[in-house]
Amino acid sequence: RAKSAGGNRFELADPEADARAITRHGLTTALPAALDRGEFFIEYQPLVHLGDGSVRGAEALVRWLHPQHGVLGPDRFIPLAEHTGLIVPLGRWVLEESVRQAGEWRERGGDTDPLRINVNLSPCQLTHPGLVQDTVDILERAGVAPEALCLEVTESALIGADDDLLKPLRRLAEMGVDIALDDFGTGYSNLANLRRLPVSVLKLDRSFTQGMQQFPADPVDLKIVEGIVSLAHSLNLAVTVEGVETGAQAEQLRILGCDTAQGWYYARPGPPDRLHELALVDATG
Ligand code: C2E
Ligand code: MG
Ligand code: MG
Ligand code: MG
Repeated sequence: RAKSAGGNRFELADPEADARAITRHGLTTALPAALDRGEFFIEYQPLVHLGDGSVRGAEALVRWLHPQHGVLGPDRFIPLAEHTGLIVPLGRWVLEESVRQAGEWRERGGDTDPLRINVNLSPCQLTHPGLVQDTVDILERAGVAPEALCLEVTESALIGADDDLLKPLRRLAEMGVDIALDDFGTGYSNLANLRRLPVSVLKLDRSFTQGMQQFPADPVDLKIVEGIVSLAHSLNLAVTVEGVETGAQAEQLRILGCDTAQGWYYARPGPPDRLHELALVDATG
């Protein structure tokens, strides 16, 4: 009796938390069927060269068109998919579909430089034994060169990574696939650790870009980004910045020597045809 009263009290205390838990549970159980039914789709956000403003490629960002809840962003379901292991087939689908899309852009692009494709990888995908072979097969089927693919792994996924975890990434890097360290600067950044990692791109987290909202930006923020860029370049890493929302930010990040930018200032994530159009407009002036 005391137990059930306690249970009731708990439920009544926070009905919203309860509703959230129910939704979470509902979403989790609906995930496998959603993959079978094709309820996931990908939006593409351009990656822009800061020096000349040209579109160089896009990041693939997955969404779920849920029959009841409408479009759900990845923050709503990727953690659930990671928890249940569905992230492995889901992540493989994202890779396959976005690489296929990159192959289609390449064919339609004619003489213009082929667009590169960035795909996010979960830590669970890194430890899955099929990663390297799946990637090789997917690139081959789409007729896309490994050099046109960039796999994004978060800094936190690689912190403290041992050699076994890094092996598949090394294999992919040797094949010519770029590996990017995503959300860089949000973990505790052990800069010396960078030397061990098979990465060729640093993606500076949006929090740095936010510090550049004013013009001129906070001098300490400028110094920090300047330091990271110069370290990255001295290690032969390219620097991409996330979350560029204004022209002032773009200009300051360009002056600081960042190579590539991504953000609402250029374009929100959108359907594949729009990315193709943006790239074409850009190539033909
Ligand atoms: P991320 O890889 O850091 O992706 C960048 C996020 O920033 C995206 O959110 C994008 O829509 C958002 N963004 C882009 N430009 C701006 C801007 O100018 N201002 C602001 N405020 N935000 C901007 P999104 O699409 O909600 O994705 C969130 C995260 O979900 C991604 O962060 C990535 O970690 C994860 N994710 C997305 N797709 C996949 C996937 O296929 N597999 C895995 N494992 N994770 C994914
Ligand atoms: Mg990313
Ligand atoms: Mg990122
Ligand atoms: Mg981020």
